[in-house]
Amino acid sequence: MSDSPSGSTSDTASDSSPDASPLARAARVNFERTADRLELPKGIRTLLSRSREEHEVSLPVLRANGELAVYRGFRVVHSTARGPGKGGLRYAPSVSLEEVRSLAALMSWKCAVMDLPFGGAKGGIEVNRRELDDPEARTLTRAYVHALAPLLGPDRDVPAPDMYTDEQVMAWFVDAYAATTGTLQPAVVTGKPLALGGSRGRDRATGLGAAIVLGAAMESRGVDPDGAQVAIQGFGNAGRVLALELAEQGVRVVAVSDSSGGRHDPSGLDVAALAREKAQGASLADLDGGDTLTNEELLALDVDALVPAALEGVLTPEVAEGVRAGIVLEVANGPTLPDADPVLRDADVLVIPDLLGSAGGVTVSWFEWVQNRSGDRWSLEKVKRRLESRMQAAWEAVSTRAADDSISLKEAAWSLGVERVAAAESFRGG
Ligand code: GLU
Repeated sequence: MSDSPSGSTSDTASDSSPDASPLARAARVNFERTADRLELPKGIRTLLSRSREEHEVSLPVLRANGELAVYRGFRVVHSTARGPGKGGLRYAPSVSLEEVRSLAALMSWKCAVMDLPFGGAKGGIEVNRRELDDPEARTLTRAYVHALAPLLGPDRDVPAPDMYTDEQVMAWFVDAYAATTGTLQPAVVTGKPLALGGSRGRDRATGLGAAIVLGAAMESRGVDPDGAQVAIQGFGNAGRVLALELAEQGVRVVAVSDSSGGRHDPSGLDVAALAREKAQGASLADLDGGDTLTNEELLALDVDALVPAALEGVLTPEVAEGVRAGIVLEVANGPTLPDADPVLRDADVLVIPDLLGSAGGVTVSWFEWVQNRSGDRWSLEKVKRRLESRMQAAWEAVSTRAADDSISLKEAAWSLGVERVAAAESFRGG
């Protein structure tokens, strides 16, 4: 099923694989519907329905207590048709080859929708990050880089932060890659600390990008952002930055939540105070400000925009029935199940798809890669300006496609993404 770093191309992710997870099913169903809509030729369709490479490695770590723990690591490259593989590296107990495979394909479509010169890839280690101290996490990262080094590189495959990985992990990554290859090549990963070739604004990029497309969507729906009500599920890197950015723009963030539950205040929460206290380790459910509410209640609030920014598959058809927001902004990867899409469409809810709503992060990753390769340093203003224009251009492209083909924004984003990758593949001859 999987192979060693030097192994051959995988042949496993066929159209008929039974999907173990809702995310895998969603990725497959959305791809198949898109391939039908585009009438993709059979060969290209088969090629894009599979990964180009799938790698599984065993990562031994001698822990501080003397135990030799062995972790499973994965890296999947879905496509390099438009450029090197690009996509996050997550450290989570739920990581599996199937999950990483689906997320790698989503990265291909996301990079293509944003018109970035990247393919799609994803990696992960099946580990509970909280169980490891920093020296152990560094050893684990080194083991991963050591095992996969021949497959990585600025022109081959470029990881980035994802769930439970951060700039520190990326810094260890650069160091381990330098130790393995003998040259310091910061462009081997993005999302690095500023001190080691990171880009200004990368840490906030997903939230900033989401705020830009939400602004465009509100304008298209005639919603005045000043005083508009928004509910955000997820108060991690993306959800928190989005909440702070929106609050600064005069939007009323009326509800936010984390895994403990959330806070709700129809007159608007003090999100800056919540972010400060949460940074000190508190759970939102235990903090002051507004009333408590559950994650389920948050999804059913009567607001102008609802933002699932945490988990995959939260909008099931049943939950979608209860959505009262006019706009749903997908910031998590795959938060809406395919069977929930028609429910939202029939209720005239405008869904901004994850391929666009979560693309701010990888877009600034591209800026970081460009800066590393040209030996340049951009100001925060320049990063923000370029992010704004890139997000606006992608919004325009997706909404124009939706109008031209009388399809939803989600269908339009999938059409654009798959079509662009398919075009590159067929010009190259597959
Ligand atoms: N993990 C992020 C994503 O899913 C960022 C990937 C990247 O910057 O390469 O889009």
